[in-house]
Amino acid sequence: MPSFRQFRETEELWTRFPGLERAEAGSQRTLLTFDDGPDPEGTPAVLDALDAIGARATFFMLGEQLMRHQDVGREVVARGHEVALHGFGHTPHEELTPQQARDDIARGLGAVEAATGRRPRFYRPPYGRFSDASYEACQKLRLEPVYWSAWGMDWEPIPGERIADLAGRDLGDGVIVLLHDSPRYGERDSAQPTADALALLERQRLEAGVGFGALADAVSARAG
Ligand SMILES: [Zn+2]
Repeated sequence: MPSFRQFRETEELWTRFPGLERAEAGSQRTLLTFDDGPDPEGTPAVLDALDAIGARATFFMLGEQLMRHQDVGREVVARGHEVALHGFGHTPHEELTPQQARDDIARGLGAVEAATGRRPRFYRPPYGRFSDASYEACQKLRLEPVYWSAWGMDWEPIPGERIADLAGRDLGDGVIVLLHDSPRYGERDSAQPTADALALLERQRLEAGVGFGALADAVSARAG
């Protein structure tokens, strides 16, 4: 689990490298986002759970996952969800050279476009942490940086009830929820608890009086 110190450092990075933590109010939607896939160990269950509650979501995909599981990535598109970019690999950018960080984003973008036929609009760096080089590359490629305003801590081996409890504390207009459809980069073996959490989150959504949606359903297109 990330330490308090790491949270503080991430906060400082978010100030230095501005990105979307919350969508503008008005859509009356909470935005569901899934990182680290596509992955047969989680994505199919998440897709079924989203269908069951009739929700559209945004999937921040990794190029290296798509190389292994292209069919799963295509299924995400076929089921009507939005494709976004999480990079090629999952190494924190502070551990990469500037050139490696730039290459990771460009290579990831190429892999996602080739596999899904979609040009992602949004980019979220691994662990929500940009470097100077990767932020610049993101801007140059006209990708919009996205963070989050709620999370289910579902990189940890915790049950769906706990994930829903954490992620659903403050469902509201424009809230961006971070979840994971792959266990590969976390500390658990399966992403099934994330899929289990969705039915519970649906109840919390109804109580909050908002809908669920993908980022594109709530974020206006950037001018220029
Ligand atoms: Zn990730």
